[in-house]
Amino acid sequence: MTEPHAGSDLGLARTKAVPMPDGRYAVSGTKIFISGGDHDLTDNIVHLVLARLPDAPPGPKGLSLFLVPKFYPDGTRSRVHCDRIEEKMGLHGSPTCVMRFDEALCAIVGEPGKGLGAMFVMMNAARLHVALQGIGLLDAAWQKADAYAQERRQMRAPGKGKSAGEADLIGEHPAMRRILDTQRAWVDAGRVLAYRTALELDLIKHSPDADKQAAAQRWCALVTPVMKSVFTHQAFHGGSDCLQVFGGHGYVREWGIEQIVRDARVAMIYEGTNEIQAIDLLVRKILPDGGAGMYALLDTVQADLPDKHKASTQAHARIQTLRAVTAQVVKTAPQDAALAFRVADDYLRAVALVLMDWAWLRIEAGIEADTPNADTRWRAPAKALRDWVLPEFQMRTFIIVSQCAAVAT
Ligand SMILES: Cc1cc2nc3c(=O)[nH]c(=O)nc-3n(C[C@H](O)[C@H](O)[C@H](O)COP(=O)(O)OP(=O)(O)OC[C@H]3O[C@@H](n4cnc5c(N)ncnc54)[C@H](O)[C@@H]3O)c2cc1C
Repeated sequence: MTEPHAGSDLGLARTKAVPMPDGRYAVSGTKIFISGGDHDLTDNIVHLVLARLPDAPPGPKGLSLFLVPKFYPDGTRSRVHCDRIEEKMGLHGSPTCVMRFDEALCAIVGEPGKGLGAMFVMMNAARLHVALQGIGLLDAAWQKADAYAQERRQMRAPGKGKSAGEADLIGEHPAMRRILDTQRAWVDAGRVLAYRTALELDLIKHSPDADKQAAAQRWCALVTPVMKSVFTHQAFHGGSDCLQVFGGHGYVREWGIEQIVRDARVAMIYEGTNEIQAIDLLVRKILPDGGAGMYALLDTVQADLPDKHKASTQAHARIQTLRAVTAQVVKTAPQDAALAFRVADDYLRAVALVLMDWAWLRIEAGIEADTPNADTRWRAPAKALRDWVLPEFQMRTFIIVSQCAAVAT
């Protein structure tokens, strides 16, 4: 997809496809930042390429999708060249290539002008995969930091004895406990949301009930950009917090944690930057139906809270606040074309926090008397979520409401 001058705005893409007399097409142009664009891990590489037919209109509607192999079935090589492999901050296991298509012969996929829609079938899945990449990297960072914090001793932790010459574990210091339990809260909320979304994807495909299918579509459409954005954000920022647990030993290579921080950074950028995810959620998916889809999603979340949290709890109150904030943005947005774009990221974060709250209440409802290590493994992260993560909801909604008020006055 990406070209030197066309990143977030694929409608600017200039790569051309010219029909050939034999029914094939000849594609010419340059694509940049192509993951795995060339390598020797497989016998063949098949590129899905967005390009413009000669009579195509400008913008995204003029894009068609083409299938360009490196080798044709008869073994001959196509005119696709890897001009460069990028030198990157991280993710060195993945060759990021500049690819040149020099009248490469290929087939069209689907109908002319429907290329972007076809590509989005793959993009939606890819966004969930990148969210999982974020959750996985954060978990890897947490595991390294947790293991280190259980071995390394420095200073005395508050409330511990004062015997001379002794020091306590890093994991016993409240500031480090806070980092570890908070990241655990993010990882497990991410897992719950990932499993629930996978279930909804199955319902879209297989449920015989049209209402259930529609609800599943709604869940996936609204939750996918949220997951992509917040879990990639957390992989980098939370991964950096995990590096902090190592002190200077985290900054040198031998413990492997600095690699996680470097590798995680790009996930906030590719498969649609996190700013684009926020716009996708608020501007493209919530405003057009006046918030109806979001209200229905919140109904689902509310109904799915464990019984004792259904009313008169903070979770319930946050859901009500998010409804009110959504209504306020929907009402105010027509007065200021930039408003929704200004608050999109705050809005996405507020939605994420409501979903994480739901996920953890469901986790806690599943703790049994004989659950192993329930206090340290489950209750401590649940408390960290409430103490250190969920207060962000007030800040985000305050920002949104203030922005709306500034427009209205
Ligand atoms: C390692 C790596 C691998 C990649 N792999 C692939 C791949 O396999 N295939 C592929 O096609 N592409 C790939 N990409 C490209 C990636 O998808 C783009 O980098 C990304 O979509 C952003 O485009 P851009 O870099 O041109 O940034 P730009 O679009 O120029 O954006 C610059 C900044 O402005 C912000 N911005 C832009 N428009 C808006 C807006 N309307 N509102 C708010 N903010 C905005 C962006 O969020 C970003 O922060 C890869 C990139 C990297 C770094």
